Amino acid sequence: MKRRQILTGLGVTLGGLIGHSLSVERAIAGTSSNVQKSQKLQWGYIGENDPNHWNEVSERYQVCQFGQRQSPINVELLENETLKVSDKRKIGLFEGFPEQIYFRYGPVNLEAFDAGYTLQANVGAGLFLELGSDRYELKQFHFHTPSEHQINGNTSAMEMHLVHQNQGGDFAVVALMIEENKNRQGQGMSDFEKDLEPLWNFLDGDFDDDVNIKLIPSVHLAKILPRDRHFFRYSGSLTTPPCSETVEWIIFRKPLTLSTENLGRYKAHFPRNARPIQRL
Ligand SMILES: [Zn+2]
Repeated sequence: MKRRQILTGLGVTLGGLIGHSLSVERAIAGTSSNVQKSQKLQWGYIGENDPNHWNEVSERYQVCQFGQRQSPINVELLENETLKVSDKRKIGLFEGFPEQIYFRYGPVNLEAFDAGYTLQANVGAGLFLELGSDRYELKQFHFHTPSEHQINGNTSAMEMHLVHQNQGGDFAVVALMIEENKNRQGQGMSDFEKDLEPLWNFLDGDFDDDVNIKLIPSVHLAKILPRDRHFFRYSGSLTTPPCSETVEWIIFRKPLTLSTENLGRYKAHFPRNARPIQRL
C-alpha cells in the first residue's frame, strides 16, 4: 500500500510560498491545519470509508450524505445537443457561452505533490477567472479518474478540476473532461498534455516519498484550456469531504486528450478516485 499523506508541512518547507493555497488544499482534502504529516486520509474510494460512508468518518462530513446539491451530476442533453432542463434540483443548471466567462491565465509556477487522493498542483498567485462581476483566484488543480461528472451519461477517462476561490471563500471549479488518446505517444498530443509533461514525469519518479514536492516553473495555463469554451454551469458541492455546497461548477463541453501512457502513469497511483453521480 502506497503512502498517502497530507503535506501539511509544505507551507513551512517552501517558506510560505504557497501558504494561501494550502488553506484551499486543506478544505478540498478535508483536513485541518493541525493534522500531522504522517496522518493518512480517513476517507477514500474503496472499502469501508468509500463515498457511501464519508458522513460516518467525521461529524463535519454530514453534508456529504444529507446535502441538497451534491456533486458530481450527469448533465443530460436533448437530441439536438441542447441542455435538458428539468431543474427539480434547484442547482441552477444552464448552458454558458464563452463571453460569459473571462480567464486571466498566464505563465505560472506550479508545486505538484501527492495530496493523498490525487496528484495536485498548487498554482502561484495572480491568475483568476471572472464570472460576471465576481472574481475567483486560481488556487490549484488536480485530477480524478474516471471522470466524476457525466455528459449525457458518458463517463470520460479522466477529469481535471481547476479550483478557484473568491474573497468570500466560495469556489468556482472548472471541470475539464479528458478522453484517452490511444495513438502512439507523440501522435496528436494535445497542448494540455505537452505543457504539463513535467507533471506526468513526476509520477514516474520519487512521487511516493514522504515529503516530495515537484517545482514546475512557468507553465502557461491558458494554453491548456480548450479553444471552444462553451460550458455548463450549476451550483453544487466539493466532490471530496467535507462536500461543502459552496461551488460554482463550470463544465467545459469540449474534452481534452491524454495519451494512454500518461493516463497509465496517473492510474498507477490513483486507479479510481471518482465520487459517483449524486442523486438530487
Ligand atoms: Zn476534484
